[in-house]
Amino acid sequence: MHKTEILLVDDRPENLLALEGVLRAPDYAIYKAGSGQEALSLVLQHRFAVALIDVQMPEMDGFELAELIRGSGETEALPIIFVTAGVRDQEMTFKGFEAGAVDFLHKPLNDRIVRSKVRVFVELDRQRVLLEERVAEVQKAREAIAASHDELSRFAYVASHDIKEPLRMISSYLTLLQQNYREKLDAEASEYIGHAVEGAKRLASLTDSLIRYSRVGTVGIDATPSDVAQIVKEVLHDLSASIAERHATVNVGYLPTVTCDRWQIRQLFQNLISNAIKFTKDRAPEVSIRAVEEPGAWRFSVSDNGIGISDSHIQKIFEPFTRLNPHYEFAGDGIGLSVCKIIVERHHGRIRVDSTPGQGSSFSFTLPREV
Ligand code: ADP
Repeated sequence: MHKTEILLVDDRPENLLALEGVLRAPDYAIYKAGSGQEALSLVLQHRFAVALIDVQMPEMDGFELAELIRGSGETEALPIIFVTAGVRDQEMTFKGFEAGAVDFLHKPLNDRIVRSKVRVFVELDRQRVLLEERVAEVQKAREAIAASHDELSRFAYVASHDIKEPLRMISSYLTLLQQNYREKLDAEASEYIGHAVEGAKRLASLTDSLIRYSRVGTVGIDATPSDVAQIVKEVLHDLSASIAERHATVNVGYLPTVTCDRWQIRQLFQNLISNAIKFTKDRAPEVSIRAVEEPGAWRFSVSDNGIGISDSHIQKIFEPFTRLNPHYEFAGDGIGLSVCKIIVERHHGRIRVDSTPGQGSSFSFTLPREV
C-alpha cells in the first residue's frame, strides 16, 4: 500500500508524540523532527504530503524553517500548517501566511480539527501521485508508439533500398529489350514492353518516395538560424527548368530568418512550389510566396492560380499516397504533402490549405520563432 508521508516538527518530544498519536493511521507514515535542521534534512529525502510545524522553537523558529523550505526548488511545493500557541494574533497569522503557510492549528489542539485539516492535504497528495502515475503511463505509451513508428520507418527504408537494386535490373533489361529487339518484336509485344517499362519507372519513383517519407520522420532536427529568402532562392533555381517550361511567374515577398532545419525547410518549399507550378491547367502558373508575423511564429504561404482542391478532398491530401488526379494528367506519388506535414509538425508548426476549385490554392504553415 502506498503510505502518505507526513512531517511533524516540534522541539518538544511530548508534543510530537501527542500529535503522532492523534494522526496515527495505517496508511500514514509519520516522521518527527525535533529541530529546524532535522526537518530540513528530512524534507530533502522525502516527499511529504504536509508538514505540521511548531512556530516557537529555539535556534530556528517555524517561520524561518518555512522560508528555507519555500526557498528551495525541490521543496517549495510542500504544504505547511503552522502550529501556534493559543492566541489568534492577526500579526502572527499574517507573518505565517507570508512565510508560506497554507493553514494554522491553534493550541490547545482539537483532535478532529487536526485530523480533518491533515486529511485534506493527504487527499491532495494522493491525487498528485495518481496523476503522476497516469502521466508516466501516457509517456511510456507515447515512447512505445514512437519506437514502433521508428522501427516501421526503418523497415520501410531498408525494404525500399533492397527493392531498388532488382528493380533497377528489371528496368535496364526491359529497356535493352525495347531498344535492341525493336525490329524483331511485333507492335503488340512492343506495346506490352512499353507498359512494363512505364510500370518499372513508377515503381522506382514510388520506392524513392517511400524512402523519403520514412526518412523524414526518423532523422533528427538540426535547427540553426536560416535565411528563408535564401532557401527559396535556391529552390527556385532548382526549379528553373519547369518554371521556364510552364511560363510560370513567381512572386516572392519578404521572407525572414528563422531557427529551423535548413535542409528540411528547403524540402518543404521544394514540394509546395513544385506543386504550385504543376497543378495548373489552361493558364500560366502564377505563384506567390509570402510570410506574415503571428504571435510567436511566422506564417509562410505558397499560393497559386491552379486547379484548386474541393472541400471534400482537403482533409485527405496530407495523408501519404493521396492523389486526386489521374496519372496521365499530373504525375506524382502523393507523398510530397505528407512529407511537408511531418516536417512542419516536427518544427512544432501547423500546415493547412485554403482553396477554391478552378481558381487556386494557398498552402500555409507556421514556424515558431524558437524551435
Ligand atoms: P504528388 O504531387 O506527388 O501527387 P503531393 O502529396 O504533393 O503528391 O500532393 C497530393 C495531392 O494533392 C496531389 O496529387 C494533388 O491532387 C493535390 N495537390 C497538391 N498540391 C496542389 C496544388 N497546389 N493545387 C491543387 N492540388 C494540389
